[in-house]
Amino acid sequence: MMKTGIYNRLLDILDEKHIACDEYLRKHTYTKLGGKADFFVTPDQYEQVQEVVRLCHDENIPLTLIGNGSNLIVRDGGIRGVVLSLANLNKITATGTKIIAQSGASIIDTSRKALEAHLTGLEFACGIPGTVGGAVFMNAGAYGGEMKDVLESCLVVDKHGEIVKRDAKDLDLSYRHSNIAENGDFVLEATFQLKEGNYEEIKAVMDDLTFKRESKQPLEYPSCGSVFKRPPGYFAGKLIQDSGLQGTRIGGAEVSKKHAGFIVNINNATATEYISLIEHVQKTVKEKFGVSLEREVRIIGEDLKK
Ligand SMILES: Cc1cc2nc3c(=O)[nH]c(=O)nc-3n(C[C@H](O)[C@H](O)[C@H](O)COP(=O)(O)OP(=O)(O)OC[C@H]3O[C@@H](n4cnc5c(N)ncnc54)[C@H](O)[C@@H]3O)c2cc1C
Repeated sequence: MMKTGIYNRLLDILDEKHIACDEYLRKHTYTKLGGKADFFVTPDQYEQVQEVVRLCHDENIPLTLIGNGSNLIVRDGGIRGVVLSLANLNKITATGTKIIAQSGASIIDTSRKALEAHLTGLEFACGIPGTVGGAVFMNAGAYGGEMKDVLESCLVVDKHGEIVKRDAKDLDLSYRHSNIAENGDFVLEATFQLKEGNYEEIKAVMDDLTFKRESKQPLEYPSCGSVFKRPPGYFAGKLIQDSGLQGTRIGGAEVSKKHAGFIVNINNATATEYISLIEHVQKTVKEKFGVSLEREVRIIGEDLKK
């Protein structure tokens, strides 16, 4: 279908202020990288999400969902078809010992809501800069906790546009992994089962974790957090540090001097530069220590056409 045809079909679903054409994705990614999306849509109702999914499925239009872009590198040529952001679906509700959060809500705000409701279990997530949907998708975790520990279920839109409830046990949650992509699901909301706790104790844990994060991580620069998964028996950051890679630069991308596991965008890096630096780190660590570093960050989109 031609671009004007797609635009007109999207206008049947959303009003024009929720459809941006040729939108730079670097405005929507934490790394500040990425070319343009043909269409960037921001629905604020579940039915609109369903209809966008149905349209793309029926008309064979590529559909990509992004959360807060904190675990994503979008290549410089951007993304064809429709990019869906659920940022407007961001309500968080506490009922009893459960928190129900829409998928575009920030996981940091969700952990704060749990604190306000005197609920314990989400403290570990208080500094993870993703959305609820992205955190469930990645089974995000930190400081000994992960989504798997607290997620009860989620509502998803399946690839046919139907809303379906999935129990957490059916999501195959493991270290930075779920089966959400394999199933072609889009997470709409998540229900977390927490426990009653003491406000001061929950707050003390969150303050401590925030202090640890701020003192160790280069939060002053755009990045995608830890670039690599933890290789069995090693720490990625230590291997990178011991390879003497800290401070290595390609263009505007640099292996952080503060935390070797991070690559920071210090000066308007392109995605090509950032990805080249990732590959350079992988190659160097493999040569020095024989360890293959597997990426945690996801790379999507097209290279710039020459
Ligand atoms: C400074 C910094 C610190 C970080 N610290 C941690 C940490 O301690 N622990 C940790 O685990 N991660 C950490 N991360 C990585 C990142 O924040 C997490 O992976 C987060 O869960 C990604 O969420 P997001 O909304 O940004 O997802 P995105 O990066 O936008 O997307 C990641 C993937 O999830 C998919 N996705 C997003 N939303 C949905 C949805 N609603 N339905 C279906 N699929 C969806 C996307 O399609 C994509 O494939 C850190 C990142 C940064 C920049």
